[in-house]
Amino acid sequence: MRTHARVVVIGGGVVGASVLYHLTKAGWKDVLLIERAELTSGSTWHAAGGMHTVNGDPNVAKLQQYTIELYQELERISGQSCGMHITGGLMLAGTADRVDWLKMAQARGRYLGMDLQIISAAEAKKLHPLLDERKFLGAILDPIEGHVDPYGVTHAYAKAAQIGGAEIVRQTRVVDTKPRADGSWDVITEQGNVHAEHVVNAGGLWAREVGRFVGLELPVLAMEHQYLITEDLPELKGQKELLHVIDFEGEIYMRQERGGVLLGTYERAGVPWSTRTTPWDFGQDLLPQDLERIAPSLEVAFEHFPRLATAGIRRVINGPFTFAPDGNPLLGPIAGLRNYWVACGVMAGFSQGGGVGLSLAQWIVEGDPGADIWAMDVARYGDWTTPAYTNAKVRENYSRRFRIRFPNEELPAARPLRMTAIHERLIAENAVMGEYCGLEHALWFAPKGTPAVEQVTFRRSNAHSAVAADCRAVRDGVGLLEISNYGKFEVGGAGSAEWLASIMAGRVPNVGRISLTPMLNERGRLIGDFTLCRLAEDQFFVVGTYAAEVYYRRWFERYPPPATVTVRACAMQYNGLSLAGPAARDLLQPLVDLDLSTKAFPFMSFTRTSVGLVPALLGRVSFTGDLGYEIWVTSEYQTALYDLLVEAGRAHGLKVIGGRALNAMRLEKSFGTWAREFRPIYGPYEAGLGRFIDLARGNFVGRAAALEEKAHGGQRSLITLDVQAHDADAIGDEPIWHRGKVVGWVTSGGYAHSAGKSLALGYVNREVAAQIEGFEVELIGERRPALRLLEPAFDPKGLRMRV
Ligand SMILES: Cc1cc2nc3c(=O)[nH]c(=O)nc-3n(C[C@H](O)[C@H](O)[C@H](O)COP(=O)(O)OP(=O)(O)OC[C@H]3O[C@@H](n4cnc5c(N)ncnc54)[C@H](O)[C@@H]3O)c2cc1C
Repeated sequence: MRTHARVVVIGGGVVGASVLYHLTKAGWKDVLLIERAELTSGSTWHAAGGMHTVNGDPNVAKLQQYTIELYQELERISGQSCGMHITGGLMLAGTADRVDWLKMAQARGRYLGMDLQIISAAEAKKLHPLLDERKFLGAILDPIEGHVDPYGVTHAYAKAAQIGGAEIVRQTRVVDTKPRADGSWDVITEQGNVHAEHVVNAGGLWAREVGRFVGLELPVLAMEHQYLITEDLPELKGQKELLHVIDFEGEIYMRQERGGVLLGTYERAGVPWSTRTTPWDFGQDLLPQDLERIAPSLEVAFEHFPRLATAGIRRVINGPFTFAPDGNPLLGPIAGLRNYWVACGVMAGFSQGGGVGLSLAQWIVEGDPGADIWAMDVARYGDWTTPAYTNAKVRENYSRRFRIRFPNEELPAARPLRMTAIHERLIAENAVMGEYCGLEHALWFAPKGTPAVEQVTFRRSNAHSAVAADCRAVRDGVGLLEISNYGKFEVGGAGSAEWLASIMAGRVPNVGRISLTPMLNERGRLIGDFTLCRLAEDQFFVVGTYAAEVYYRRWFERYPPPATVTVRACAMQYNGLSLAGPAARDLLQPLVDLDLSTKAFPFMSFTRTSVGLVPALLGRVSFTGDLGYEIWVTSEYQTALYDLLVEAGRAHGLKVIGGRALNAMRLEKSFGTWAREFRPIYGPYEAGLGRFIDLARGNFVGRAAALEEKAHGGQRSLITLDVQAHDADAIGDEPIWHRGKVVGWVTSGGYAHSAGKSLALGYVNREVAAQIEGFEVELIGERRPALRLLEPAFDPKGLRMRV
C-alpha cells in the first residue's frame, strides 16, 4: 500500500467506489480507496438494486437521472456488466390523495425532462398482469426505472476508477484518522499509515464509527430491511420482464427476479439495527428474517397481486442500511475539520450513488459540488441531532417511506425538543406548532375553543381563515410574531467591517443602520442572504437562515476573518419578537426611551436599547412589508418582553400571529427567501437582488461573476404570478407554462390574504421573462391561468414599511 495519496476514500461500498471513480474522472489520479473486507461488504451486497428517477426534491431527482444514465458509461469503460434491467416502472395510486400526488410528481417531472405518463388502472393491468386493477385508481408510468446488480455496479465503478489511475486496497481496516496542523491527514490502517491531503468517510454501515475517530457523531442510523423472492411463477416464463411497481397503499415495492418476484416493504414498525455501534466483524451477513413484522404489508400485497398469495417463497433477505433523519444522504465537507469529507447515509445507492460521487468529487477538486445539493448537504444538521433524535426521526421516516407527506404536514417524532421561553404562552393562545431544526414555533392560531390541529391536504386547509385573520391584524393594526428561528452571528473586533465587506456582496451598513445583503460563492451564485445590523464601528449583529448556520460557518472557515475579528454563532442565545402593522410604533413608543418617529429612527435603523425592563437590540425592519420592529433579547428576557408587549398591545388590538401569516405577507411583497427563491443555482440578478449588490466598492467573493451576470443577464428570472387558483394554491416545484411550453418552475406560493390573490414566485427562462400574459401554473394536474405581476401585489411602492 502506498504511504501517500491525495485522497483516501474509506469504504468500498457502492458510494465509496463512485466517489473514487468520479475523482479520477475529474482528473485526480493519486487516489486510494481502503476497504475493510471485500468491496460491497456493507449494505451494498444484499441490496435489491432497484433504481428510479422520481424524488421529492427536484435537485436530487436530477442527480438520480444522472446516476441511471451513468451505468452505460461505466460498463463501456470498465468492461464490467452492471446487470442493468430497464423495465420501466409503475407507481400505483389507491386513493384520491395519491392520485393528486401522482399528478404533482408528473408535473414536477416536466421541467426535469422526465417522460412520466399518468395511466388508468386498466392500462396498468395491461402492463402488469399480476395486479388487480380494481384495487387502484391510476398510476404513473416511468420508462426509466429498473434494477442493476449491486456487485456489478460497485465493481464497474472500481474498475473504471483503477483504469483512471486509482488504487484499491482490500482487507485493510482504517482504525483511525488524525489531522495534521497543515490540514492534511494521517490515515491509520491495520497495514500501515497513509498521509493524505483529503479523507472521505464513505463508511456506510460504519460511517458513525469512522466519524467517531474525529469526534463526529453523524446523524445516521441503520434500519433492518426485508424483501422476499418467490419461487418461479410459470406465467412469467417467456414473457417480457415485469415492470417495477411501487404500491403505496401496500407500502411495497416489487419487481421480477429471474423467474420469480422480488417483493420488499417499508413496514410501519421498522426496527433499527445496532443503534449505538456497528460491530466491526459484521460482514456479508444477513439478519434473522421476521416475516411476522411485514405480515400486514404482505396481506395487502396478496390482495393487490392475488397470484402472489399462492406463490412459494424461495428466499427472505433481511439486511441493514443507513438513513439520515430526513432520508437524504449526508454529503460534503465538515465544518471545523479541514479536508474531511463525508458521503454517507445514502439509502438509495443505486439511484443516488452516481450523483453523490459526482458532486463530492467536484466539491473536492473544484471547491464546489457543481449542483444544488442543499437537500443532501451534511451542513443541514446541527447539534440538535443527537443519537436519540436521529433514532426517532429515522424510524419515523422509514415507516413513512411510501406515505404522502402533505405540504402542510408536521411530523410528530422527537418533539417537542427545543422550545423557547414563551412556548407555553403560545400554546395557551391555541397555537398550532411546527418544527424547524428541532425548534418549536407557532404556525398559526386556531380560534379559541377549537382544536389546535391542522387537516393535512394539498388544498387549502382549516388554517386558511385563521391565517387570514392574522394577516388582517397586521395590515389593519398590529401583530406580534416570534422570530427566534433565525440564525444569528455576532461579529466583532477591529477589521469586522472589512471582513464582512470581503465576503458579502451588498453594502456594509453605517453604525446604527441595517443593510440586506446576499452572499455569493466564487461562481457568483447565491449562497446566503443576510441582514447586517451595525451596533458600533466594530460590532455587528448578523441575521440569516438558521437551517444554514453550519453551512455559513463552513463558508466563513473558507474565507476566515483576521485574528482581530471574532465570529460567534449565537442563534439560540437570542430570541426575537417582531411587531408589525400600522399601530406597531404607537404600541412600542411608550416602552422605549427613544424617539421612534421616522425622522429620528427611520426604516433600517438599529440600536441597543431597553424595552421596559428588558435590555434589547431593536431594528426597524419587518419581513411583512409593513411598519415593523424586530426586537432581539437574550433568552432569559423573552417571557418578560412577550408579557410586556401583549399587555401594552391590548389597547391597540394586538394579535399574536404565526409563521404562516408571515409567509403569506412576504409573498404579496414578492420577498424571496432562502432555500426557496435563493439557492446556489441562482444568481443575484436572476433572483431580482441586483439592487443589493454593491459592485461599486472593492472586491468581494463572487464579484467578477456577478459583474458578468449583470452584463449578460442571467439564464432565468424570478417572477411573481397571480394564479387563478380554485381551492389549491401553489406550494413550490410546480411547472410554469407559457403558451403551451414549460418555461420554469415555482419556488413558493400560497394565498396572499391582504392582496386577495393566490400568488406564486418562480423562475422562468430568460426568453419569456418580459412576458405578462400567457402563463399557466400547473396545480394538481390542472393548468391554471396566471398573470405576471410587475410589482408586488401589496403596497408596490413600499411606502408602508417606511411611514
Ligand atoms: C435489504 C436491502 C435492500 C436494498 N435495496 C435497495 C434498492 O433496491 N435500491 C437501492 O438503491 N438501494 C437499496 N438498498 C440500500 C443500498 O444498499 C445502500 O444505499 C448502499 O449500499 C449504501 O452504500 P454505501 O457505500 O454507502 O455503504 P456500504 O455498502 O455499507 O459500504 C461501506 C463500506 O465501507 C467499508 N468500511 C467501513 N468502515 C471501514 C473502515 N474503517 N475501513 C475500511 N473500510 C471500511 C465497509 O466494509 C463497506 O464495504 C438496500 C439495502 C438493503 C439492506
